Amino acid sequence: MIGYKTLAVPGPTNLPYEVQRAMEVPLEDHRAPDFPNFTLPLFADLKTIFRTETGRVFVFPGSGTGGWEAAISNLLSAGDKVLTSSFGQFSTLWVNMCRDFELDVQNFDVTWGEGVPLEDYHSALSADKAHAIKAVLVCHNETATGVTSDVKAVRQILDDLGHPALLFVDGVSSIGSLDFRMEEWGVDVAVSGSQKGFMMPTGLCIVGVSLKALEACSTSRFPTGYFSFQDMMKMNGQGYFPYTPAATLLRGLRASIDMLHSEGLANVVSRHNRLASGVRAAVDAWGLKNCALAPKWHSDTVTAIFVPEKFDANDVISAAYHNYGVSLGGGLGKVAGKVFRIGHLGWLNETMVLRALGGVEMAMRDACIPFQAGSGVGAAVEYYTDTRQPLSLAAE
Ligand SMILES: *Cc1c(COP(=O)(O)O)cnc(C)c1O
Repeated sequence: MIGYKTLAVPGPTNLPYEVQRAMEVPLEDHRAPDFPNFTLPLFADLKTIFRTETGRVFVFPGSGTGGWEAAISNLLSAGDKVLTSSFGQFSTLWVNMCRDFELDVQNFDVTWGEGVPLEDYHSALSADKAHAIKAVLVCHNETATGVTSDVKAVRQILDDLGHPALLFVDGVSSIGSLDFRMEEWGVDVAVSGSQKGFMMPTGLCIVGVSLKALEACSTSRFPTGYFSFQDMMKMNGQGYFPYTPAATLLRGLRASIDMLHSEGLANVVSRHNRLASGVRAAVDAWGLKNCALAPKWHSDTVTAIFVPEKFDANDVISAAYHNYGVSLGGGLGKVAGKVFRIGHLGWLNETMVLRALGGVEMAMRDACIPFQAGSGVGAAVEYYTDTRQPLSLAAE
């Protein structure tokens, strides 16, 4: 194929030149005496992205899924009760992992398209007078359905009830893109990975851990092994790791953090909102339905779009890829064949989104889905021009 392929999946995301260049370095000695000059500021700056002052952020070679396991194995014991909810493929997989670890899972099965069930969480926690529930799980941004949940409201419930359970948050497709405040929201474990908001290749599992959670490590009776927070903390204190770190990726992470800071986290969040709003305008103009069932659930990093009944969303995804080199996200689990997903996070601007929307329109025509060609692209063009932002064309 001549020209660029279009990567419009919700992770991996587009790799910025700055990040790529930062990783074009010789492999380095991770036990060198000056390695901490690089790592100690990196650890400190990573905390500013998670927005924690008193917590720590650990980086393991791995992916987001490893962070789910790290949270469970470091902080809980077999038989511990956890409060969970499933409303999409990712939230469901974390719950399944809790079951694999033989935790006592109290799960709420929620309609896909909605998010964390606040009222159910409230009643379960208020009924738990003995404080048997050791952890509450929240998938901040369910990437399978394009639903964002209210983490702050879950913290509020815990605080109102004086419930001491730890708050575990999957922030894999939110941290670095959506508003996320680990300290302010009292998040005890925040799980992320490198290939979404951090605009990096896959390969890092990035986990924020609160002070309260670090203290809870000592009471956990699971073996921790590879993901031990305590081993990581001991070595990180000196700027080193308990085993070979993915040093090349850490160089990329340095560049990624610098880019997020130079844009400003608040600007990063509002850019994602603006780009997502253009996508939602396109979906409306096509006459299609967003999988997220209400505006309060709308994700600013990914949109899952129902094709009309009788059509197969996989035909759109397949036409997009084979005919135009456009990668869209597929429907996972319960919504397989019913939705396709457009990822709109990371290193992205208006014209990159329009490219994806144009690709979707061509693919929908190929799949014989009825809609007015140009309507979605046009709606997004109108939205972006009506809300135009001053552009900073600093040298790249
Ligand atoms: C991508 C994703 C994961 C899984 O992360 P991997 O890096 O693929 O292991 C988990 N949760 C959410 C919400 C995700 O978007």
